[in-house]
Amino acid sequence: MQPPCPFCDIIAGKLPAGIVYRDEHCCAFLDINLVNPGHVLVVPIRHASGLADLDEPTGAHLFTIARRIAKAQRTRLPECRGVTLLLADGKAAGQEVFHVHLHVIPRRENDGVRFQRGTVHGTQAEQDKLTVIANMLTGCLSGDTRE
Ligand code: 5GP
Ligand code: ZN
Repeated sequence: MQPPCPFCDIIAGKLPAGIVYRDEHCCAFLDINLVNPGHVLVVPIRHASGLADLDEPTGAHLFTIARRIAKAQRTRLPECRGVTLLLADGKAAGQEVFHVHLHVIPRRENDGVRFQRGTVHGTQAEQDKLTVIANMLTGCLSGDTRE
């Protein structure tokens, strides 16, 4: 049996949430702890813990809807000057709720928001190491994206 999931409860109407959009495949609602006013989470209707459990058309749909929400935030939220998309996949990435969700975070000029998780800190690597890693990834990225 599936463990309790707050996002499944929101989708089922058992938990209150500020729902901003819903269709057959996804639901978008306000995060309970707003990074900035209008911070939205886009989630698949069918429970999927992480990205690997999500079928590709639904994953693409989440992005499509996030893009529309970002556009709405820029036009409707007076102080919105930019948008951050963030998805933590797995505990090591900072995921706390194990129902896939894409954060759509409106940004104000100098809003002071800092991402402790999801921030990319880079160290420069040698090209041959990059090539090896690139080859490891491309090997499993080819093929039919509708699988
Ligand atoms: P994560 O760290 O997994 O990417 O983010 C989980 C997000 O879900 C957090 O920003 C948290 O505030 C939000 N969240 C957790 N529980 C609830 C809830 O019951 N309702 C809503 N609306 N958001 C929630
Ligand atoms: Zn769920």
